[in-house]
Amino acid sequence: MTCLECNKQLGYANHKNAMDTLGVELCEVHQRRITKLMDTNATPREAIQLYYGLKEAGVNAMLEWWDGNKSIDIAISRVKLNIEIDTEYDRMTHEQAINDLEKAMHSFKNGFTTIRIPHVLIKYYLKETVVNILGIMEGLRVHLKAI
Ligand SMILES: [Zn+2]
Repeated sequence: MTCLECNKQLGYANHKNAMDTLGVELCEVHQRRITKLMDTNATPREAIQLYYGLKEAGVNAMLEWWDGNKSIDIAISRVKLNIEIDTEYDRMTHEQAINDLEKAMHSFKNGFTTIRIPHVLIKYYLKETVVNILGIMEGLRVHLKAI
């Protein structure tokens, strides 16, 4: 068991603590850093899990990327893909829905594609979610080349 950021060996307590709080293998230093980022941006835990899932698949993504207007949960700038994690799908109001649609519209205008992923998907289907994002990236890559 090693830290996904720095490959530092994790002790039992450290590993258990990281898995209990974040669900990803991180050393104390990196766990603290991520926790601080989550506190600042209200980042859902699933965004962290997806970020490291993508990292393990070789994807260079950015957590809480500031696009000039808002902070994006996960951005993959190489293919101009923004990923937002939805945490309260069942309690979404129409105001939130139209806000999300407007944000997506602005991103599209800047050449960015936004996908929204319900947090439960990451909880139960992390591998499949990563595989699908890899497919989306491949599609976007081909598309960007064509332009
Ligand atoms: Zn570390």
